[in-house]
Amino acid sequence: MDATIQDEIHYCAVHPDRDTGLRCNRCDRYMCVECAKRTPVGYTCRECVRGHEDRFYQGTLLDYALVAAVSAGGGALTIFAALLLGGFLILGFILAPAIGGAAAQIALQLTGRRRGRQSAYVSVGALLIGGLAAGYLLTGTVGIFTLLYLALACSAAFARFKMSI
Ligand SMILES: [Zn+2]
Ligand SMILES: [Zn+2]
Repeated sequence: MDATIQDEIHYCAVHPDRDTGLRCNRCDRYMCVECAKRTPVGYTCRECVRGHEDRFYQGTLLDYALVAAVSAGGGALTIFAALLLGGFLILGFILAPAIGGAAAQIALQLTGRRRGRQSAYVSVGALLIGGLAAGYLLTGTVGIFTLLYLALACSAAFARFKMSI
């Protein structure tokens, strides 16, 4: 880089009215103090900070498929266990959130830190579908308790995902 370029006045890439000497340490664009984010390795622009976060949260299609499969299995297991218990409603109310939470935990471990932003919703949706399908296949109908147990399992799974972010 030659001296004439360094002597020029540069402006923030986002705010063209603000001159600045600060540059992003990732993409090299000029940025004003307001746009600069301090990181352990220097100043980074907002775009690059956001891009970094997006990469962190970006789940692959396979991750979502894993989350969906494990959660659907958890949903089916919830209903299966609830039916086995028959009249023991209290046990069902304890078991449903336990299984939902466990399914979410397994899904989180399988996908590691690559989980996507949508993982929690994928998990809850798959739990519902798996549970409803199991309930319908086993009893020929969708009962109020099936829905109740699934609601418990879903909220447990959702909470588990939210806790991990
Ligand atoms: Zn940048
Ligand atoms: Zn700016």
